[in-house]
Amino acid sequence: MISRETLLTSLEQILEPNKIKDYCPNGLQVEGNGQIKKIVTGVTASQALIDAAIAANADALLVHHGYFWKGENQTITSLKHKRIKSLLMADINLIAYHLPLDIHPTLGNNAQLAKRFGISNIQGLEIGNPVSVAVKGEFETPQTVAQLTASITQSLDRAPLVEGNANKAIRTVAWCSGGGQSFIEMAGEQGIDAFISGEVSEQTIHLAREYNMAFFAAGHHATERYGVKALGEFVAKELGVDVEFIDIDNPA
Ligand SMILES: [Zn+2]
Repeated sequence: MISRETLLTSLEQILEPNKIKDYCPNGLQVEGNGQIKKIVTGVTASQALIDAAIAANADALLVHHGYFWKGENQTITSLKHKRIKSLLMADINLIAYHLPLDIHPTLGNNAQLAKRFGISNIQGLEIGNPVSVAVKGEFETPQTVAQLTASITQSLDRAPLVEGNANKAIRTVAWCSGGGQSFIEMAGEQGIDAFISGEVSEQTIHLAREYNMAFFAAGHHATERYGVKALGEFVAKELGVDVEFIDIDNPA
């Protein structure tokens, strides 16, 4: 068992949330039990994940997508009321890390994707920005679009939406987990061969074609599963606390 303060201090040290400007509060969002025996990790603090955390007897729920986003309705009503009431009744701390968890150089969503896809020589895509959200790198052995499609499908357990000729060779690649598809323009301007993101919109396909880049939309949920999972595993080892990752499947 550890105290809430010990957990929060450790997370702050690992993720350094003050390094990057975000559009939600990072860290403790809903206060619960001061003592923590069990942590559940997951991508989004949806009702399904909260219910699973309650069933798992969790004292803390650690997620990538929490609440209180800039521009969202500020009142605690309707579905948000139901979610927060469930957390408060069960005395569960809700702890969320958004961009700090995307960009962490080893545990972050983007770093975890690089590990899965076999990308090396990783740098920020935003030139001159030390906390670039999107990143770029390369494959030691160039891959075809078809080969990269197969590798993404296998490592994320989900087939991506793909734009580009199956035989096109890819050496350089840029990527951004989740909703980062608009970084494709920055990658296109830098002449990068392929861009991988979670989501896709209609206009992104035109940009990919006009920059002659391959594009892969591998799923917002699927590309953001591994950061919070890796963070949980790190914390379990570091603090000797029980941590369980619960995947609430999401096709988007
Ligand atoms: Zn996201």
